[in-house]
Amino acid sequence: MLIADLRQRLRALGANPAHESRVLRHWVRALPLDAGKQPLQGWLPKAVMAALPGLMAELDGLVQLRSEHAGGDGTSARLLLGLADGQTVETVLLPREGVCVSSQVGCAVGCRFCMTGVDGLIRQVGSAEIVAQVVLARRKRAALRKVVFMGMGEPSHNLANVLDAIELLGTEGGFAHKQLVFSTVGDERAFAALQAAPVKPALALSLHTTDAAKREQLLPRAPRLTPEQLVEAAEAYARASGYPVQYQWTLLEGVNDDDAELDGIVRLLHGRYGLLNMIPYNEVPGMGFTRPSWERARAIAAELSRRGVLTKLRDSAGQDVEGGCGQLRAREAVGRPA
Ligand code: SF4
Repeated sequence: MLIADLRQRLRALGANPAHESRVLRHWVRALPLDAGKQPLQGWLPKAVMAALPGLMAELDGLVQLRSEHAGGDGTSARLLLGLADGQTVETVLLPREGVCVSSQVGCAVGCRFCMTGVDGLIRQVGSAEIVAQVVLARRKRAALRKVVFMGMGEPSHNLANVLDAIELLGTEGGFAHKQLVFSTVGDERAFAALQAAPVKPALALSLHTTDAAKREQLLPRAPRLTPEQLVEAAEAYARASGYPVQYQWTLLEGVNDDDAELDGIVRLLHGRYGLLNMIPYNEVPGMGFTRPSWERARAIAAELSRRGVLTKLRDSAGQDVEGGCGQLRAREAVGRPA
């Protein structure tokens, strides 16, 4: 189901835009139907009121919890969610009141180090299915302040659904716009659409290397934009939105952790309106990449900060659930315990 379908159904029942907003607000905020100062009963048209319990049950059925895997830090958890057609996606409850949602089942970008990309794109996740992941997270955690689109899939390859979900979360959902984070490998259509969007999220750009040829190997089906072009486009959006770019760098031992890369990062990012999130790779058996030692990662982050690039090394809290998306789904597919 799409958010547009939901709106259409409410209108067909006689809801006006104010009624529609209230119903959507109750859903996105995971509120009981009788919550709020103005009870829905007696205010909504009778036909809408009569249909509401069934409609809410239908929305609840968009994503179903299949399994939950707590992170070692006690504040994070990876959830495997079943969709109505039997497909699955992963949603991650993050430390500090965040949730990471999936925008696609599978992914066409095929990053060499990512399990999600192995089978290519299986299907898009609908806008209502994206929001339903947030609603489920809200039910598990009363306080939720941040939604990041960094789970399975490339958001710019499912742009209309992701932007519709962001608009609803940033209006009726009660999230500050900068607490909604659109993550991408970089795509010109996405940069243009974000500039025009009514709710402008913060931007995370997965850079991973400053070498264009190496990036083509690591992210084989990402749009052919050079790191320089990506940074220029991200910077333009950051200036327009007022939120700094979060450059993402999955640190792979012997691949993107050498002196040439550090020089490239300083050349590209020094003086930019952004920060670098450096995340030591969460190893996936059989993918052929290794994670550098924590000491090495810390030394790299310290050197970059010393050279004027604000660099944040993700600490180990939640590491076991924040990296390596797609592993739960893959394990379930081959019948191995997650
Ligand atoms: Fe797709 Fe992201 Fe995995 Fe790359 S890292 S294959 S963009 S899900």
